[in-house]
Amino acid sequence: MQFVSTRNHQLTTSFTFALQMGLAEDGGLFVPEHFPVVDLDLFNREQKYFQFAETLISMFMHDDPLSKKLDEICQHAFNFPVRLKSLNDQTHILELFHGPTLSFKDFGARFLANAMNHIPHPDDLTFLVATSGDTGSAVASAFYQKPGVRVVVLFPEGQISTRQEGQITCWGENVLAISVKSNFDDCQQLVKSAFMHPWWRQHATLSTANSINIGRLLPQIVYYAYASIQFHAEYQQPVGVIVPSGNLGNVTAAYWAKQLGFPIREIAIATNANHVVEDYLETGEFVPRDSIATLANAMDVGKPSNFERLVDLFPEFSEFHQHVRAMSVDDEAIRETIIKVYRDHNEMVCPHTATALYMREHLSDEPWIVVATAHPCKFETVLEPLLHQPVPPTPMLQALLDRPQHFESIEPDMDALIDVYSRYQV
Ligand SMILES: *Cc1c(COP(=O)(O)O)cnc(C)c1O
Repeated sequence: MQFVSTRNHQLTTSFTFALQMGLAEDGGLFVPEHFPVVDLDLFNREQKYFQFAETLISMFMHDDPLSKKLDEICQHAFNFPVRLKSLNDQTHILELFHGPTLSFKDFGARFLANAMNHIPHPDDLTFLVATSGDTGSAVASAFYQKPGVRVVVLFPEGQISTRQEGQITCWGENVLAISVKSNFDDCQQLVKSAFMHPWWRQHATLSTANSINIGRLLPQIVYYAYASIQFHAEYQQPVGVIVPSGNLGNVTAAYWAKQLGFPIREIAIATNANHVVEDYLETGEFVPRDSIATLANAMDVGKPSNFERLVDLFPEFSEFHQHVRAMSVDDEAIRETIIKVYRDHNEMVCPHTATALYMREHLSDEPWIVVATAHPCKFETVLEPLLHQPVPPTPMLQALLDRPQHFESIEPDMDALIDVYSRYQV
């Protein structure tokens, strides 16, 4: 299997190379050149999660050198549980937050980091990562103390929760945390510009661990495939999936799982008040905007990069319209939903998960899986005043928060970023 750029399907490359590059030469994003239809009999509910992952990801890696190491990579990357819980017959929650930094970002980050162990790379390899809240900590945790790899995390100052920030700034050594006095889109823009910038070309081998990197998206297909198979075995029918979305990486992985033939009935995109996808569905015009700050901060994205991958999948607007639905959920609805789910089901949910649960109320009576993207305890400042309950950190989170914290602070400016990076010694 080869991977091609969204901007030029003639530009093919291997999985390993796509992983190293992050972004295609022409600025496009890598996508699989085609989607094989999988033999569902290869997958069964008795398989352990990491074995299921290996079976699935190996289909994208035929004749790639990395395929020989895939079992080892999956075993190390996916060493925490994925849970599917039922609220009632029609609403199920897929908990993706049992990894080391308590969000679904751990799946992609840990796969990427473990894959990099087996890919020869120059020892000035630097992962430049923009984070809207959770990617930064997942990537930092996954790459921490990996020899010959540096991680630079850019996060929007004052726009992420204290506990999210604690999980990003607690590492040191090969991890540099930088707060940018702006929003996520500017962090992402700095990363993209660095790739084109002559200084970086001379001084580091850059890669990205954002969801623009295909190495993060393939492992995210796995939990949709896994959950749909589990669901189908239990209820003998395909299931709908609602994905709380920002940069649209996670939901792209869901579409890819469906494309491969896993029993997914339909897919719905829940966003916060940043509603460019909903607008596109209404007008047929994609108009990126500045992001606005919401309670579901990891979804505060106004220029979602992976939109390009969705359009690659559904190039005609009519097709896009047929397969994609989206709903924008404001902060008031997020608050209401957090309270309601706690009252009715005694479940605490994070603000991101709440957008999808709110959307679920407005969809058909058929069964839906709502994707729970982060652990509620990362957002105690949102939940505690609403629920009048303490929301304590898990022991794993507490251990990170107890470490000394350090970060640099810059304006959203390339010279400032270069200056901080040049002064930093591993
Ligand atoms: C990153 C993130 C999202 C959004 O995922 P995308 O792939 O950017 O659409 C949603 N919820 C949480 C908790 C996240 O960390």
